[in-house]
Amino acid sequence: MTELENNLAKLEGHIARFRKNGIGHLIAGERWTSADAETFENHSPVDSKLICTVARGKNEDVDRAAKAAHDAFPAWRETPGPVRRDILHTVANKILEHAEEIALLESYDTGQALRFMRKAALRGAENFRFFADKAPEAANGLSLPTDQHMNVTLRQPIGPVGVITPWNTPFMLSTWKIAPALAAGCTIVHKPAEWSPVTASLLAEIMHEAGVPSGVMNVVHGLGEESGKALTEHEAIKAVAFIGESSTGSAIMAQGAPSLKRVHFELGGKNPVVVFADADLERALDAAVFMIYSLNGERCTSSSRVLVERSIYDEFVQKLSVRASKIKLGHPLDPKTELGPLIHQRHLEKVTSYFDLARDEGAQVLAGGAVPVTPPSEGHYVEATLFAGADKDMRIAHEEIFGPVLTAIPFEGEDEALSIANDVRYGLAAYIWTGDMGRALRLARNVEAGMVWVNSENVRHLQAPFGGMKASGIGRDGGDYSFDFYMETKNICLAMGDHPIPKLGL
Ligand code: NAD
Repeated sequence: MTELENNLAKLEGHIARFRKNGIGHLIAGERWTSADAETFENHSPVDSKLICTVARGKNEDVDRAAKAAHDAFPAWRETPGPVRRDILHTVANKILEHAEEIALLESYDTGQALRFMRKAALRGAENFRFFADKAPEAANGLSLPTDQHMNVTLRQPIGPVGVITPWNTPFMLSTWKIAPALAAGCTIVHKPAEWSPVTASLLAEIMHEAGVPSGVMNVVHGLGEESGKALTEHEAIKAVAFIGESSTGSAIMAQGAPSLKRVHFELGGKNPVVVFADADLERALDAAVFMIYSLNGERCTSSSRVLVERSIYDEFVQKLSVRASKIKLGHPLDPKTELGPLIHQRHLEKVTSYFDLARDEGAQVLAGGAVPVTPPSEGHYVEATLFAGADKDMRIAHEEIFGPVLTAIPFEGEDEALSIANDVRYGLAAYIWTGDMGRALRLARNVEAGMVWVNSENVRHLQAPFGGMKASGIGRDGGDYSFDFYMETKNICLAMGDHPIPKLGL
């Protein structure tokens, strides 16, 4: 038996119950069909086969879940931090027990290569562990004394929150929102993406098994414009943490406006990798290739634009094209696969539309630029693609493609590099490769991005702030930054003596 056959056999064992029973909502610790019994079909991007039917939530289902989160909130808020910590550690332990199952299901539901989904499952556990340890300190504040008063701040959970997640790496991304919200003392209604709903359901089961009390974690499946919209409009939901497209972020802001919803957005990106001639070019090459062709390029922080100093441009781009053409496209459950199928036929059409556009705009297609002639299975495969000779005004240079497609642009000197890097509507991540630290610091300060890596690929430190500027987002996650969103800061001012009080009406 090959490793692929072995993984497919294991997958069948895990997926059978989803095929048989479908996926329902999880509300107040119980499985629910939709109030109107409607469902939608979830097909795998790997072979286009039906995985399962999924409950199609609407207003009534969201209302039930929001009420469950509202009712569970007072007790969860009052649960001591160390108790919340222990429960979240149990969730992390259980994720580790189920890690292989999560990775296999995620891979088949999203088309992401198993080699990356195994790591993503472990990162999900790490996210829970990290925020578990922070739960006891979540309420901590400052003492801000003046001569006559002592100001004391404390943090309190904001209330039930809505979490809305995308399809690209859904398990890991959900834990990144759910773990800090629970550590803060919030309760949750989660609306997972309709194109990859399986592991959200599994996560909710794992959390239930781990002792997260009923109603603290609720999941309502469905379409964005139905259950997603209803969640962002619900009065009981105090804040919405959203990961997805910038245009959806705008819609959510408008939908949440009447109820003055607090929002946290992690949106799109068109992230530059800026490579100077004095950089360690082999490492820069490895990093640029990894950050665009891993995770099918369906990654918000992908290095989708490579800006290369003109003196080394031809040579560097040539090396990029060799590496791109050797990327191992394959069945995502084959551990050797580097690039799997894209999530959906509609997304495939979007990504491939840029191949014609690149040619029309006058760029060269140095690698890929097509769907494979003999795909590994009946999925939405596309070759690892490199566009070269682009200039900053082309659409391929500033629109988010969200696939394994890299656009190379030459530049002359630091000023031009900065101007091209900033000349997009997005501002999520930037990567700078140079041997000159002064230049690295100048660029890092001036580049419009929420996160900058210098001579490094995208290595995350969970304490560090994660988030974007411009159309890439609002707010930061990570460490204490997450608590700024999920909690209210309250100031209590205590008089230490008889300070003068102005007298009126004498
Ligand atoms: P999307 O915006 O289409 O959907 C995301 C989620 O929003 C889904 O659950 C969807 O059902 C829901 N939704 C859609 N319309 C809604 C509405 N009107 N009201 C409420 N919810 C609604 O995004 P996608 O296509 O699933 O994901 C890809 C996008 O996500 C890319 O732009 C990518 O850059 C972005 N992303 C960003 C980050 C980050 O950290 N910045 C991380 C991952 C993905």
